[in-house]
Amino acid sequence: MTRRPVRIVTVGDELLEGRTVDTNSGRIQRALAGREAPVLGVSVVPDEAAAIATALDATAAGDLVFLTGGLGSTPDDLTREAVAAWAGVDLEQDAELASRLERRWRARGINLKPSFLKQSDVPAGLEPVDNPQGSAPGLVGDLRDRTLVVLPGVPGEMAALLPLVLERLDARGVLPPAAESCLWRTAQVAEVTLVEACASVRDRWPGLRWSWWLTEWGADVRVAASPAAAAGDLAAAAAEVDRILDGIVFARERRTLPEAVLELLIARGRTVSTAESCTAGLVAGRLTDPAGSSAAFRGAVVAYADEVKTARLGVPAELIAAHGAVSREVVLAMAAGARERFGTDHALALSGISGPGGGTDAKPVGTTWIALDGPGGAHARRYRFPADRSHNRRLAVAAALDALRRVLEAGDDVSPWHQVDSWRGDR
Ligand code: ATP
Ligand code: MG
Repeated sequence: MTRRPVRIVTVGDELLEGRTVDTNSGRIQRALAGREAPVLGVSVVPDEAAAIATALDATAAGDLVFLTGGLGSTPDDLTREAVAAWAGVDLEQDAELASRLERRWRARGINLKPSFLKQSDVPAGLEPVDNPQGSAPGLVGDLRDRTLVVLPGVPGEMAALLPLVLERLDARGVLPPAAESCLWRTAQVAEVTLVEACASVRDRWPGLRWSWWLTEWGADVRVAASPAAAAGDLAAAAAEVDRILDGIVFARERRTLPEAVLELLIARGRTVSTAESCTAGLVAGRLTDPAGSSAAFRGAVVAYADEVKTARLGVPAELIAAHGAVSREVVLAMAAGARERFGTDHALALSGISGPGGGTDAKPVGTTWIALDGPGGAHARRYRFPADRSHNRRLAVAAALDALRRVLEAGDDVSPWHQVDSWRGDR
């Protein structure tokens, strides 16, 4: 099957006014990664029929065109009208959709307003795809020699519809099948470091397609087969990448770091608690993102003030006076206190200077101590995160979760920073 060029049109005044950042186009691009379906352009247009038509005119015959936004029931939502007008087709009410919408609102005790029914209008030639999270269905079909996919703007609804739409496109033979690929998700390591680490593998198997990108946790690398590569190249290169990245990979598939950590905790029958100063509960928050976290996560103490570290975690006031709250001694005492009070197998503790104020020559902004206490003993490491307040806090969360992952994976007698230290130069 030949390559299928993709263009994305995001619709919404709020996107142009800077009130909302467009995340939908990125999500569509990621969903298409590995397909022979290169995204050739993304345009952002206001909620205006003429602007939507202009963006559609700029696509070419044969394109696969994604539109998001403006499928709601308010008067400013006019994507379906604009698409119908551009294609020169009628809007037809889909009777089944209409009755489903009516049932949906009745079940919620909402009186049906005529404007709500707008969402059951479908441009002739497109077919609706049920929205598992909201009322506006997706629309898929061929118009004017393009394949159009129209999706709601709400990111959660868009994301829920996307796999269903791709299934529909696959069934219609619209999309080339996904090329075989391998993914490595790493934490605590910069993108450039990964690029350098993989350089020798790239040189050896030049026909493969590589990509790297930053994530909330660190950086990911993906390598995909391509027509230019020989059979077996991908597997051979992947084995080499496995060897090079040993220890810093938290997942080989689409999984978040908290999901990976939680899975390991449950598999090992282990529990965890946190004692958090600079991150004020962010680690606990992320650890409880995945469903089922209660099987392993017991609780957290947000010990922002020194007195709370003493009263709630049993950190001796003299220890804080002698070493400062951001120190190896204090963070180890925080971890020991949490582990003992919550009765958990492991406890993570964090204390740092996120900024912008509070830094000194000896402890500049970004200085963060992280401790992990567990059956194999207690370890602490100092980080010097280089970013602003919110980013420093996020880096601390990733580093803490990754430390726990490392111990759960490698065994209690291994330091959580074994191997990671050699990848980072910030001690
Ligand atoms: P509805 O009106 O039913 O909520 P809709 O399809 O009309 O759905 P919009 O009204 O355009 O969607 O947007 C709904 C929400 O989704 C808004 O909060 C908007 O800021 C957000 N949103 C829209 N487009 C995007 C986008 N490309 N990226 C991120 N958020 C978006
Ligand atoms: Mg809108």
